[in-house]
Amino acid sequence: MADNDRMEKLVSLCKRRGFVFQSSELYGGLGSVWDYGPLGVELKRNVKDRWWRSMVHVRDDIEGIDAGILMHPKVWEASGHVAGFADPMVDCKTCKARFRADKLADAQCPQKPSKHPGDHTACELTEPRQFNLMFRTFMGPVEETAALVYLRPETAQGIYVNYLNVLQGSRQKVPFGIAQIGKAFRNEITPGNFIFRTREFEQMEMQFFVKPGTDEEWFERWRALRWQWCLDLGLRAEKLRWHQHLHGELAHYAKAAYDIEYEFPFGWNEFEGIHNRTDFDLSRHQQYSGRKLEYFDQERNERWLPYVVETSMGADRCALVVLCDAYHEEQVEGETRVVLRFHPSLAPIKAAVLPLVKKDGLPEIAERIYHDLKGRYTAFYDDGGSVGRRYRRQDEAGTPFCITVDGQTKEDGTVTVRHRDSLQQDRVDAARLVAWIAERVAA
Ligand code: ATP
Repeated sequence: MADNDRMEKLVSLCKRRGFVFQSSELYGGLGSVWDYGPLGVELKRNVKDRWWRSMVHVRDDIEGIDAGILMHPKVWEASGHVAGFADPMVDCKTCKARFRADKLADAQCPQKPSKHPGDHTACELTEPRQFNLMFRTFMGPVEETAALVYLRPETAQGIYVNYLNVLQGSRQKVPFGIAQIGKAFRNEITPGNFIFRTREFEQMEMQFFVKPGTDEEWFERWRALRWQWCLDLGLRAEKLRWHQHLHGELAHYAKAAYDIEYEFPFGWNEFEGIHNRTDFDLSRHQQYSGRKLEYFDQERNERWLPYVVETSMGADRCALVVLCDAYHEEQVEGETRVVLRFHPSLAPIKAAVLPLVKKDGLPEIAERIYHDLKGRYTAFYDDGGSVGRRYRRQDEAGTPFCITVDGQTKEDGTVTVRHRDSLQQDRVDAARLVAWIAERVAA
């Protein structure tokens, strides 16, 4: 299957099955904002829950926070976003389109036949200009006199400005980390590729505060942990690789930066960034706020500004990686089967309960089983159409287990459990189903 075909099929499946819809489609859509439907919202929640559990719940040395989207405007001066959070853009005077100057090779000119910007004889591109990506809004009832504020373009700054609060209010000592999941907004010049690059998205970020001198060791430790986390999502290892930021690409304040890249149908692209940000952010906030942000090391009676190792992943981008990795088409009994092979812990619906026929008391038994399961797991009840068709519907939703109630259930209390990936069928005691699923859904 050609790769753009694959992407088109995935986008269409996402719409049809209620994973992701274009925002405000009723009014023609809003560029690069997407809404998550019933299955998509479960998938994204599962991704975020896994991340939160691995960062905050399992570890003793990371605390969670949830900071506001709106922050004091000085935060963005201190962070460097007001002066420098810009992409170079060029305009085409002929077709009035705008492109990112550093991504011209990936962009399409709207003129037909479609080529890269600048490749048509009619193209007239301007010199690159810097375009700030932050959305601005006004705080206060009267726009003219109100303060200009920004929608945060990253969640990290909410962590830096709360670092002392968390340190004082918890029993942590450096080294320790702060984790956060939340919305971020960027007025991207060329968004696209579905939920890969959007203007409103969610980030899952963690800043780990360490003693200067131990930063390189922590950086390597976090690289290994994050790589393993991606593998634990069930992603295929051959679809993942490292990309090291070398001198031209490395932010001026960063000592080292690596991206974990995934091979999307549209090519290798960043999935997560892991950065050694030195003491850049804390020293800037110290300077702009006039407040000391040093850490007092009681054992050595020393004060210093911690270095920060950051891990930064988009929740939406992670959902896209999971979707791309899970999407499979295969031939089964002369028919094409479309199946989303999610890791069971990520699957939006864990089990579907299907009475074989709509009579002989089977629906009543199936409904009881469904209600038992529903208290613990996302479950789905379906009694419409042939059982084969019902299986296919669940394959497209990525449901790992289909539980069929048949004549034998009435005799011995067992049900058929059909496995999404192997298509194998097992007989399981209905009374043991909750525990049976628990063993298989565990992360
Ligand atoms: P790029 O250079 O591709 O614009 P970036 O290097 O600026 O991206 P970061 O600031 O490092 O990206 O953001 C960290 C993570 O947040 C990314 O790895 C990605 O998963 C996610 N992310 C960033 N921008 C977007 C976006 N516009 N839409 C969706 N996710 C995003």
